[in-house]
Amino acid sequence: MDDVIIGLEIHVQLNRLHSKMFCGCSTAYHDSLPNSHTCPVCLGLPGSLPVINKKAVEYGIKVGLALNCKIEEETLFYRKNYYYPDLPKGFQISQYDYPLATKGHIMILGDNGAERNIRINRAHMEEDPGRLVHAGTIDKAKYTMVDYNRCGMPLLEVVTEPDLCSPKEARVFLDKLKSILDYLDVFDGTQEGSMRIDANISLKGGDRSEVKNITGFKGVEKALSYEITRQKNLQRRNIKVVQETRHFDELRNITVSIRSKVGAHDYRYFPECDLAVMRIAPWVPAIRAALPELPDVKRERFVKQYSLADDHAKSLTSEIKLANFYEAVAARASPKLAAVWIADVLKGELNYRDLSIESFQEEQMIEILQMLEKGKISEDGAVQIIRTLLDRIPIEIGGSPSKIAHELGLGKAEDDAVQKAVREAVAESAAAVADYKAGSERALNFVVGLVMKKTRGKADAGEVHRLVKAEVEKA
Ligand SMILES: [Zn+2]
Repeated sequence: MDDVIIGLEIHVQLNRLHSKMFCGCSTAYHDSLPNSHTCPVCLGLPGSLPVINKKAVEYGIKVGLALNCKIEEETLFYRKNYYYPDLPKGFQISQYDYPLATKGHIMILGDNGAERNIRINRAHMEEDPGRLVHAGTIDKAKYTMVDYNRCGMPLLEVVTEPDLCSPKEARVFLDKLKSILDYLDVFDGTQEGSMRIDANISLKGGDRSEVKNITGFKGVEKALSYEITRQKNLQRRNIKVVQETRHFDELRNITVSIRSKVGAHDYRYFPECDLAVMRIAPWVPAIRAALPELPDVKRERFVKQYSLADDHAKSLTSEIKLANFYEAVAARASPKLAAVWIADVLKGELNYRDLSIESFQEEQMIEILQMLEKGKISEDGAVQIIRTLLDRIPIEIGGSPSKIAHELGLGKAEDDAVQKAVREAVAESAAAVADYKAGSERALNFVVGLVMKKTRGKADAGEVHRLVKAEVEKA
């Protein structure tokens, strides 16, 4: 799909902050009544004056540095003029020339399986507009309501260069960006609308369309796939793709045209005269020094320090909480075994149940790994214990793995009991043993089955196979 060109603009709500971008209203509005978190500033009443939330700018710089951007010496706010009911002032305070951060990049795993460098054009700060609630679908709504609780929320807009080549790459990029933001602790991705994406898409040689306000990464993939098909169909029929803004309708899985695209000059940008120029360069060293270890660096360290496979290291470092969980467990169990069980088993079981790593405790994982290492439970048994612990949430949280092993009767049969069963089974299977000796490897399965039956499934099948083979060859 090298004929597809995609660029993204991602609006990240810096919702870990306590107050809005230019006023003291609380950012914790998600479960509140409409229009209950507002004041004269965020309602744009005449005579009200904005005050910059310094912490928000610091968060913006933090993200800029993590995206390998250059941080400007000085930065300032502009008025972006447009008339829309979600914007009571008639303009949005945003940035234009001299944005906070420019010319960054992050690495992603591209479609061809190789690491690709995706360039970041800029990251700038702005205020979120209010939220329109349409009665029905956007193109057919009879009326629309407006909620200004969101108005004035601190936003960081991250703009990529058109470096992405497929809907899947866009998704991979977004996952990576989200992972970095998660590490920086600047936003809570579980809040509705915390990340909203505009996607520019074109086919080589054609004009581009912009799909606005997509929430959810699956939505981005779907909207882009729909657009590619739509534009290809137009090209095939020799119809020109017009440059326009479209909306992704999640219920119908299609994009619909909202308006023809407006250029930057239509917004009549000019500096926000109520806010001073900010000299931010002196803040940068301290913010840089306080940056946490980021996903790529942590992943490399995991590979080296714990001798992990790259896939495991990548999976374990995708979320900061998961990475911390792993390190706590690896400190008290075999790091390699812990990686396999956390990345391959626990993570899958959590995803399947839509649970986060906080649903499982380090102590539980350590206990399971210790039981495995001492041969007290089989691998199948360990999986069953993890599933049972997760299935009991939220009735029981933090249950004891060994108690569950006991309840489920998962304790592995004692070794000598297995040995005894192996000897008996081999003695009782003269025909199968003869077949094996005549060259039929599969004949051993019968004997293994017999041992499993005698030990009522508590023995480890792989181990039994090894013991049976040894016994037969001894005879
Ligand atoms: Zn306010």
